[in-house]
Order: sequence, then C-alpha cells, then structure tokens
Amino acid sequence: MARVLDSGWYVLGPEVDTFEADWATYCEADHAVGVANGLDALSLSLRALDIGPGDEVIVPSNTYIATWLAVSGVGATPVPVEPDPATYNIDSARIAAAITSRTRAILPVHLYGQPADLDPILKLAREHSLAVIEDAAQCLGARYKGKRIGAHGDIVCWSFYPGKNLGAMGDAGAITTNRADLAERVRMLRNYGSKEKYVNEEAGVNSRLDPLQAAVLSVKLKVLDEWTERRRALASFYTDAFSDSGLALPHVPNWADPVWHLYVLQTPDRAAMLERFEKAGIGSLVHYPIPSHMQKAYKDAAIAPGDLPLARDMAAQVLSLPIGPEISKDVAERVVEVVLG
Ligand SMILES: *Cc1c(COP(=O)(O)O)cnc(C)c1O
Repeated sequence: MARVLDSGWYVLGPEVDTFEADWATYCEADHAVGVANGLDALSLSLRALDIGPGDEVIVPSNTYIATWLAVSGVGATPVPVEPDPATYNIDSARIAAAITSRTRAILPVHLYGQPADLDPILKLAREHSLAVIEDAAQCLGARYKGKRIGAHGDIVCWSFYPGKNLGAMGDAGAITTNRADLAERVRMLRNYGSKEKYVNEEAGVNSRLDPLQAAVLSVKLKVLDEWTERRRALASFYTDAFSDSGLALPHVPNWADPVWHLYVLQTPDRAAMLERFEKAGIGSLVHYPIPSHMQKAYKDAAIAPGDLPLARDMAAQVLSLPIGPEISKDVAERVVEVVLG
C-alpha cells in the first residue's frame, strides 16, 4: 500500500496490471480483468455477452442474491433451477427442462467453495448455443477435474470481498476468461466504455479495480494456498467428528477439490443449535436465511415459496460452522462439542 501511495498512481496502472497477470496465471486462464466488486464482474460479463431485456439466464435457486441481481440488473430474467441438496450446487439434471427459446446463458454458482458439475452444463450449453458464466465468488482456488476454476466456461466472475477466501481490504472483483473478445469488452465496459482516453465506444460504467486493493491482493495471493490447506484440514476434522451424528454434511464428489469458503451442514433443529452456539460465545451464521425468490426484491417475479421447495427448505435448515485460516484447533474442538450438543 505504501508503494501505491508513493507511486501516486491511484487508478488502474501497474499495480492492477500485475495482479491481473498473477490472477490469470493462478486461475489457469488466458486473461484476467479487475473490476470494482463481484456483482459488477457478473453484470459486466452479462453485458459483454450482449445479454439484456427479453433474455433468460438460468441461475441456481439457492445462491447469494447477487447472482440474481446481476441478471435482473441488465434487464434479463433469472430462471431458477433447484440444487442437488447433497452438494448444494445447481442440479445439472434439472437444467434442460428450464431452457426456452429465450435462454441465453447458464450461470452456475460454485457455492460454499465447491465447484458445480460443469461438464454436463458445458455440454448442454454447446447443444443449445448458450454461454456459460460462472459465479466463482466463493470458489477462489478450487479445482474441477484437476483444472482450476478460471476458464471452464466462457467467463468466470470473482469477488474479493473481505470475507471471501482471498479478501481485499474493501470491495474488489475480477473476471477471468480464455476468450480475448470478452476480456477486451469487460476491460472497456469497466472504464466508461473506452479503450482510448475520451473515445467512448459504448455506454460503460466506472468499475475499476482499485490499485490499493490490487496491491493487498498480490500480497495475500502468495499465502492463499496455505490458507486453503488450513480450511481443508478443518473441514475434514468436522466431517470426521460428525460422521456418526446423523447430520446432513456437505458431500464432496470425487472430481471436486473444494476450498471450503463455508462448511455448511443441514439440521431440522437449527434453532436449538444456533442457541447453543450463542451460549458458547461462538459465531455461527446462516447462508442464506431467505432465498432470492422469497425476497421482497423479487416479489414481482411471482414465484411462490413452494415453487422452489428445495431452496425454501434448505434456507430453513442450513448452518455454517466457523471455518478459515484463523480458526484454532481449540475453537474447532469447541465447535464440535456445540454441534453434537
Ligand atoms: C460475494 C458474492 C457475490 C458478490 O460479490 P461482491 O464483491 O460482494 O459484489 C456474488 N456471488 C456470490 C455467490 C457471492 O458469494
């Protein structure tokens, strides 16, 4: 950060270029473009693919609302598909039934740090000439069938919100892609639709990655894998400890290398478990208590709660345990005691 302040270069510039290059390499992608946050990464990706009013985009019924907001924000319609409750990710087998003549893209979310099953999604997309936009905000560093998340689909969207596995000291985001056309379009859109100063090719926005945040991310990227290993150790500690508990635990398919952004279990007795956490003075959270279709924000979409029963029921039963590189063995042991009651 001192280096950035001394340089006097406060918008884009070498610090952002360096992080973009390092992030592309890390994600095994040809291009990375830094933007202001994860929501903008999604919105600008949709715009770069010319998706807008009249178009439909398939999204998971259970996700952080930003996924839906990006789609409705460009004027398109989010079309929800229910998850596989064992992995929490979009159920590929249900996607075909949601495709219509207006569908333009499939937007899977790699929820809680685990990749969605991409191959069936990519196959459907090829068959129906759809784009695949990945919401990888929670999945920084994960692998699908051995290859890093970063360019399996047409474009991949990242958030470096402070609570994410690689967090900035404020808002930050990026896209990665192997498609030079999409990289160039997002690069232009994020900067007023301009490639050359004062020449505006389209009506873009100001959504640039802040060089101070880029500098922070460059430092933290060096330890990301080490932190991920710590998350993995905690996740297997929890999974072993709860193996005989009868609780619904996150299922990891053999092709997935998750990065455990969250460790989410499901229990019908969530209220009691949350109360035990509170009494023990240990933070636990619910991701997410109200699914998008039950939010006031989407009342006009007129999707009844029972139309997406899995999203509705999971929202009532999910609970996220403390996980992260800062969680000590001692805290993890207390978490196990609290969960087992
Ligand atoms: C965090 C997150 C976003 C949005 O990222 P911001 O940087 O907060 O805008 C989008 N999708 C998912 C799944 C997220 O977890």
